[in-house]
Amino acid sequence: MPGPLRTDAIVLRSIRYGEADRILHLYTPDHGRLSAIAKGARRARSRFGARLEPCFQIRAVLHTGRSELMTVTAVDTVAAHAGLRDHAVTLDAAARACDAVTRLFETGDPHPEVFALLANELALLSADATHARPGNGLAFRLKLLLAAGIVPQLAACAVCGETEHLRGFSGAAGGVVCSSCEAAAFNLDEDAYRFLVAALGSSLAQAPDGGERALRQVERAIAETAEHHAHVRLRPLLAA
Ligand SMILES: [Zn+2]
Repeated sequence: MPGPLRTDAIVLRSIRYGEADRILHLYTPDHGRLSAIAKGARRARSRFGARLEPCFQIRAVLHTGRSELMTVTAVDTVAAHAGLRDHAVTLDAAARACDAVTRLFETGDPHPEVFALLANELALLSADATHARPGNGLAFRLKLLLAAGIVPQLAACAVCGETEHLRGFSGAAGGVVCSSCEAAAFNLDEDAYRFLVAALGSSLAQAPDGGERALRQVERAIAETAEHHAHVRLRPLLAA
């Protein structure tokens, strides 16, 4: 039996279980996604206190049992991100960020950059509610696509390699397409194209902004890429 696992983790979901327990979906730097049970976590005098809420960044000790589910035996708070809970918009943006990680990274494969990206996003949203805007959420998703190895091709037509007249986007082709290859594509405005390039080239704190039309095209590009290449449906980010 291997010894306990000591790991940093972000709580993606915290589900009530049985009389007093919680089942946690955790994202860790070196073990990807893990599920664990925190026994007695909902009792008033639980040693876990309130540290097992979604979006908490913790340092946990986990034990392997006979089932898939690990058992949490100790937890320290690294970052509670209390500011997230001050505004409905920041809490919602944080929940969507955790949900996108849950859907795109569901295995134990290590992606330390995804852990760092999510930790950064939660810290930004907690520190300053102005980050809870669509441009930031879309930039976060684009960076997740990059980490998942399915970032859309933007420099040249994904079908024929042409570098001019890049007017469409095709999730199936894997990126922007030129005017002669745009049969299966949707129209991508210059502004949307610029957003995609800028979002991947800047930090989350400096995520670009755009008009609603451009952001809708960007969201569609991200959604189609995730569906075609990771078979994942992301929750809509922009209101319908
Ligand atoms: Zn082409």
